[in-house]
Amino acid sequence: MRYALDYLPATQEMHVRLCADAAAQREFVIARDAAANIAGLAREHGGLQRLGDTRWRADRWKSGECLSYRVALAPIARRNDYDIGVEVGVDMLVAPQYWLLRSDGDEAAEATVSMPDGYAFSPPWQALDGSTAQQGRFRIPSTPPAWSSLVAVGSFEESTLQLPGGTVRVAMLGGIDTANRAKLLRWMQHALAAASSAHGELPLPQAQVVLRPVALRGGRAVGFGQSLRGQGNAVHIQVDPKATPDQLDADWTAVHEFAHWAHPYLGDDGAWLAEGLASYWQNTLRARAGLLTPLAAWQQLDAGFARGRGASNDQLSLAQLSSAMQRERAYYAVYWSGAAYWLQLDVDLRKTSGGRFGIEEALRRFRACCLLQRRAWAPREFVAKLDSLMHSDLFLRRYDAYSARRGFPPLQTIYAQLGLQRSADGAVQLRDDAADVAIRRAIMRKPGRADEP
Ligand SMILES: [Zn+2]
Repeated sequence: MRYALDYLPATQEMHVRLCADAAAQREFVIARDAAANIAGLAREHGGLQRLGDTRWRADRWKSGECLSYRVALAPIARRNDYDIGVEVGVDMLVAPQYWLLRSDGDEAAEATVSMPDGYAFSPPWQALDGSTAQQGRFRIPSTPPAWSSLVAVGSFEESTLQLPGGTVRVAMLGGIDTANRAKLLRWMQHALAAASSAHGELPLPQAQVVLRPVALRGGRAVGFGQSLRGQGNAVHIQVDPKATPDQLDADWTAVHEFAHWAHPYLGDDGAWLAEGLASYWQNTLRARAGLLTPLAAWQQLDAGFARGRGASNDQLSLAQLSSAMQRERAYYAVYWSGAAYWLQLDVDLRKTSGGRFGIEEALRRFRACCLLQRRAWAPREFVAKLDSLMHSDLFLRRYDAYSARRGFPPLQTIYAQLGLQRSADGAVQLRDDAADVAIRRAIMRKPGRADEP
């Protein structure tokens, strides 16, 4: 499947030409309610039969044949639904399922994109060499159709950040001005460096970041963050463009969202594993990158555990609570029970390896074998794979215990071993006479750095 996309700003329409290899019969499909935005759909040589609201059939499709149509993007963006489309000032985010016809089956797809002067196109797709936000060539990763994906179209600026191991394209939508763009880009560099410090490099060869401006109150710099996996990996973050560099660097959201790039999609029942890893890493990796002191990182983890404990549910197991997280609004209990699991595993692995490695080594090996399969993993299958990669049984053993437990996991033992002690004012302090002080220090220390400052 080869798409050629030309944008017509006057009407906010995309002209789509779709060419495909020979097939005795091809069916083209688009998301429900989306066909109304399409005009002028025609097969260049031969007939096209409409089958209901979302489907068309073409018989005797010859090699290299094409069809073409125009699609109005503005009505899709005006739906203001993050699974369909969103308006961001004069820019638009539009889900590909709502404007790109696809053919049944799991076919490789490529796109060439041509934008007029002053306009840009930013997809989560894999950019091929020489691509820009105006003239791009992309490979479209094949992912389950239900996975959310959004393409940005408009008059925004896109910046490319080269990191060890990969490239991140940052699109800043909604008219963020030049001075603020430079500041936000530095914040992205800091957060990406922190998130990559687990592996020593970016876990993915390419990813897309979309920043959306939002006015926040109460001294907050960063609003909602979201990790999307459809047709490639993307992180969308709401940010106040007027926030100071210190306020931006002090916020955990970006590192949390980027940490999600290191694990596969784990479904609703695996949300506790996914959110637990991101919640654990948002603090430990920021400490390793120098964005937090080790003490502050332990205090933030402790505050998270306290929130999780305060919201815990003794009626449901963690696996059940995780599946019902949205309905029960059980975010704190799920996120921080999961963070406790990864802390426990990090300590376990460092003990059994004599301090040579922690959980980042397991995820680094997972990336090497499996991450770019871009498929969903059952949570139990994922932890069993981590065990096989590490020649251990700890991931699965702890997984079974955590997922079956009702109520928040007890942390007294691990706190005592690590020398985390609550002082009279309730804040966690670090003791240097505990059994596993060396492990505590290693968890927050950048590899190669001598000690806790
Ligand atoms: Zn998350």
